[in-house]
Amino acid sequence: MEYTEIMVRYGELSTKGKNRRTFIDRLCGNAKKALHDFPELNFHPKRDRLHIVLNGADSQAVMTRLGLVFGIQSFSPSIRLERDMDLVRKTAVQMMTEQFRPGLTFKVNTRRSDHNFEMDTNEINADLGDTLLTALPELVVQVHNPEVTLRVEVRLDGIYLSSETILGAGGLPVGTAGRGMLMLSGGIDSPVAGYLAMKRGVDLQMVHFFSPPYTSEKALAKAKELTAKIAPYAGSLQFIEVPFTKIQEEIKNKVPEGYLMTVQRRMMLRITDRIRAMRRGLAIFNGESLGQVASQTMESMVAINDVTTTPILRPVLSLDKNEIIKIAKDIDTFDLSVMPFEDCCTIFAPPALKTRPNLDRTRHYETLIDVDGLIEAAIAGIQVSEIKPGEHYLVQDQAEINSLL
Ligand code: ATP
Ligand code: MG
Repeated sequence: MEYTEIMVRYGELSTKGKNRRTFIDRLCGNAKKALHDFPELNFHPKRDRLHIVLNGADSQAVMTRLGLVFGIQSFSPSIRLERDMDLVRKTAVQMMTEQFRPGLTFKVNTRRSDHNFEMDTNEINADLGDTLLTALPELVVQVHNPEVTLRVEVRLDGIYLSSETILGAGGLPVGTAGRGMLMLSGGIDSPVAGYLAMKRGVDLQMVHFFSPPYTSEKALAKAKELTAKIAPYAGSLQFIEVPFTKIQEEIKNKVPEGYLMTVQRRMMLRITDRIRAMRRGLAIFNGESLGQVASQTMESMVAINDVTTTPILRPVLSLDKNEIIKIAKDIDTFDLSVMPFEDCCTIFAPPALKTRPNLDRTRHYETLIDVDGLIEAAIAGIQVSEIKPGEHYLVQDQAEINSLL
C-alpha cells in the first residue's frame, strides 16, 4: 500500500492535564529529531494525535524510527483519500486483500470530525462492511475483538483509512522529566539503567570515568559505542569522559585495602555531582542493583551517598541479573557489554573488599588524600563529545585482524 501518513497515538501523556501541550510539543520535537534525515515529512501535532504526512517517504523506514521514540503508545500507517465513497470502497478492498486469509475476522470503525458529510458513521460502517464481504466473502464480521479493524476517519480535508496498529515504545517523551547524569561504565547494568531513565522522560547525559594506561583506549571506545546504542532514544547524547588515573593511584597508595572501593566511589560521585551542577541536572542515575556485588549493599550505599544530597536514582535496583540481561539483549547492548575490556573499577579492586563499610572510618580514611585538589584536576581534564545513533568507536584495526588470522 502507498501510505500517505502515519497517525501517532500518544502514550501516558494524555492523562497529564495541563502539561499536555508541553508533552505534545516535546514528543513532536523528538520525533522530528529521530526523523531528521527525512526532510519531506510534515508534522501536525493535534490534541489527541500526531499526524506525520509522508509526502512520498518510505512508510516502513519512518515507522522503524518511530518505534524508538518514547511517549508513543501506538501508530498506524494510513491513506488519505478524496471524499469520494467509491474511491474509499475500492481502497478498503485493496487494504483488506493484502491481509486476507479465509476466516479473518474484521470490523469497520468510523469516526467523523465533519458532521456534514453525506453519510453518518453507522451508514459508512454498514456500507464498507457490505462492500468488503461482497469482495471477500470469506471474511467474518466480528464486533468484539476482531483481528483487523479498518479505521475510517472523515475529516474536512479527506477520508483517512488504516488497518494496522503498531505498538510504540511507551514511556514519556525524553526531556519532559528534566535532566539527569548517568554514571556509565562499560558493564551490562548502567546502559540498561540509562535506557529505563530515558523511557521515563529523562534528558540524560553520560559520565564515564577512565584510567589510562591501566584501562585501554578500547574500554573508553566501548563506553562510547554503548552510548551510540542507546542514543536513538534521545536523538543524540552528550558523553563526558573524566580522567580518573591520578585519583585511583592516590587512593591505592594511601587508603587501606578494604576501603579502596568505597573511597573511589565517593570520589566518582562527588565529581559526577559537580558535573551535574555545572550542567543544571537534577539527579544522578547509576546501574546499581541491590546486593548484586559487594559495593551494592545498603551499607555501601550509605557510605557512598554520604557525599551528596542530590537524589541518586537506580532504575535497575530491584531487578535480578537475568531480568537486566533480558533488557540489555532487547536494546542490543548486551554483546558489547560482555566484551572483555578492563574497567577502571576492577583494575584496583582488592581481594578483601569491605561489603559493609563503616561510614565514620570511610570519612576518616578519606582525609588521607587531597579530595578537593584531586577533584579540581579531574574536572579540569574532562572532555565532552556528542554521540549520535549508529556511530562506531570500537573498530578493530587491521593489525589485530591479521593477528587473528
Ligand atoms: P555495570 O554493569 O553498570 O558496570 P556493575 O554491576 O559492574 O555495573 P559496578 O562496577 O559496581 O557494578 O558499578 C556500579 C555502578 O557504578 C555502575 O552501574 C555505574 O553506574 C557506576 N560506574 C562504575 N564504573 C564506572 C565508570 N568507569 N564510569 C562511570 N560510572 C561507573
Ligand atoms: Mg561494572
